Amino acid sequence: MTPKTRHERSRELFAQAKLMIPGGVNSPVRAFQSVGGTPRFMQKANGAHITDVDGRTYLDYVCSWGPMILGHNHPAVKAAVLQAVENGLSFGAATEAEVTMARLVCDLVPSIDMVRMVNSGTEAVMSAIRAARGYTGRSKIIKFEGCYHGHFDALLVKAGSGVMTAGVPDSAGVPKGTAEDTLTAVYNDIDSVEKLFDENPKEVAAIIIEPLAANMGVVLPQEGFLKKLRALCSANGALLIFDEVITGFRLSLTGAQGYYGVKPDLTTFGKIIGGGMPVGAYGGRRDVMSTIAPVGGVYQAGTLSGNPVAMAAGITQLKILRDNPEIYERVNRLGERLYTGLAGIAEKHGCTVNHTGSLGCLFFTNRPVTDYATAKASDTVRFSHYFKKMLGDGVYLAPSQFEAMFLSAAHTEADVDFTLNCAEDYFRREDD
Ligand code: PLP
Repeated sequence: MTPKTRHERSRELFAQAKLMIPGGVNSPVRAFQSVGGTPRFMQKANGAHITDVDGRTYLDYVCSWGPMILGHNHPAVKAAVLQAVENGLSFGAATEAEVTMARLVCDLVPSIDMVRMVNSGTEAVMSAIRAARGYTGRSKIIKFEGCYHGHFDALLVKAGSGVMTAGVPDSAGVPKGTAEDTLTAVYNDIDSVEKLFDENPKEVAAIIIEPLAANMGVVLPQEGFLKKLRALCSANGALLIFDEVITGFRLSLTGAQGYYGVKPDLTTFGKIIGGGMPVGAYGGRRDVMSTIAPVGGVYQAGTLSGNPVAMAAGITQLKILRDNPEIYERVNRLGERLYTGLAGIAEKHGCTVNHTGSLGCLFFTNRPVTDYATAKASDTVRFSHYFKKMLGDGVYLAPSQFEAMFLSAAHTEADVDFTLNCAEDYFRREDD
């Protein structure tokens, strides 16, 4: 169907939505605020494509911000969900599916002895931090500038330049006291972490990190960085928490920890583990997880946690990934083609491409991007022009410079080549 006028229905819906929903959206980045224009209201998605309410279909590199690694509406995942629905939507009681899910996660990820299901990545992080504090009896947390761990108060801390010894809340409504226990270090700068340990002896409960940072664009951990963090945590009696909400079951079946060969004490999951349903999980060492209620004194609960329909989607997606290792070969090969292709096109125009596997980012800066400060040097106005051109060509990118591109197994070489042609065209026009 060809729309009468361009995104007319999206415009109408956005106008209505803004009257009732803050900013017209249920999650801020969807509002297109940093790129301008009307957010597309989506109606359906299949494979690598997503279709808006005006009938326009886009090649999708958002993939619901990561969960849809098999592509949208995968027939087996859909069938499992429909079958689960037949039995009821929610029981608020233990189910066999939760045992199956726990076994899958414990079998797939060697660092996980025990796991608890929750409903989002934010909840997973919040709960893992509480477990770390409960286990160690310490309050302080080290996070890294530019790493996002959901909208949990203690981790919404402004990433200022250099190391911050006292946290400053990044959001109104976060009490100063909550953020004071959050220490901020510089990604890829091990000295900044050592300094925080030195300044706060026996006070740090945990380091939390995205082992591959994918919320300031994509920033790769430098050789040895994660291993040094592991050693620092062990030496200082602090726990190492890998936030694998994006990287879990994406960089590999064993996530970033398997990919980089570093074993965290706790791990948080979201996105892929739910197959597109609202699911998160946290897990790790048996002694730490044994502090969680009802076994231990760290309270954490959830009315809908382990929901049977959500478990059906997640279990099916994880089993497909486990049983078909060629999926990782495929998405990583597509990643290589896409991101090296983009680098070839864009680097001569003053851009930088960072990528690992199926995750990548085109930064509008010619400096190497290794941390938050270098990511922030990107020209976001140029990015917004690029974004709009790509959208116009039918390529749906995340509407922010500081997000990753997500590939799925449903993308094809032809999709990648089409995307590269669109990007090439953008840079050609920029030159005119
Ligand atoms: N941690 C990371 C690394 C994330 O990327 C996100 C969300 O994008 C979260 C945590 C929060 O997850 P959710 O949005 O499911 O609450």
